[in-house]
Amino acid sequence: MALIEFDRVSKAYGSGELTVQALRPISLTIRAGEYCAIVGPSGSGKSTAMAILGCLDRPTSGTYRLDGNPVDTMGANALAEVRNRTLGFVFQQFHLLPQLTAMENVMLPMVYANLPKAKRRSRASRALEKVGLGNRIHNRPNQLSGGQQQRVAIARAIVNRPQLLLADEPTGALDSHTSQSIMAIFADLNREGMTVIMVTHDRQVAEQCDRIITFHDGQVIKDSRAPGSLTR
Ligand code: ADP
Ligand code: MG
Repeated sequence: MALIEFDRVSKAYGSGELTVQALRPISLTIRAGEYCAIVGPSGSGKSTAMAILGCLDRPTSGTYRLDGNPVDTMGANALAEVRNRTLGFVFQQFHLLPQLTAMENVMLPMVYANLPKAKRRSRASRALEKVGLGNRIHNRPNQLSGGQQQRVAIARAIVNRPQLLLADEPTGALDSHTSQSIMAIFADLNREGMTVIMVTHDRQVAEQCDRIITFHDGQVIKDSRAPGSLTR
């Protein structure tokens, strides 16, 4: 089943002579349960595509359906709801709140979930255990290594059990050994059924996914099975 359908989605920034065509019309389907890497040179439109995928930005033209919903025509409230229910985000720079503990950071996305605090705590600690951080839950980000901070960020992204996990260069700030342990978490989540899409510059990281989508000049120039799909 298609989780994501881009039907001739384009994105232009600016207007007149200053227009930048960040995405040319792209048509793309990603099924529920896929594990995809998006690769391509700087400026090729990867982050623009991720922002649209994550409903943080709208296409200039074309249609984006997420789980069957035409999200590009939804109002702001409905969209926020879809985002909260369906999507999790992980970034290169973790984006944790420095004054909060790991546990409190992970509890944040449940602020609007209308759950009792005990329930929020138990869900957050389960998410932290899932990423192998069950013993550091009361530490603040500056008391954690980069890899541990990224684990907290992943726990925060999955605590509402999203269908789709979007990650923009999730291993970009980490050494290769730590990257590997983070990739193991993504592979695990994917194995359990979560759809994962990540942007990466790292060929070795991309090749652990099942599918590699290559962008160039706002277009998809290659879309292929990755070696990872053969070994898992
Ligand atoms: P990538 O993530 O692959 O490096 P981006 O999606 O960030 O590429 O950018 C694609 C193109 O769109 C680039 O030419 C970039 O300069 C341009 N661009 C991105 N965001 C904006 C913006 N907010 N305003 C104007 N141009 C932008
Ligand atoms: Mg980018």
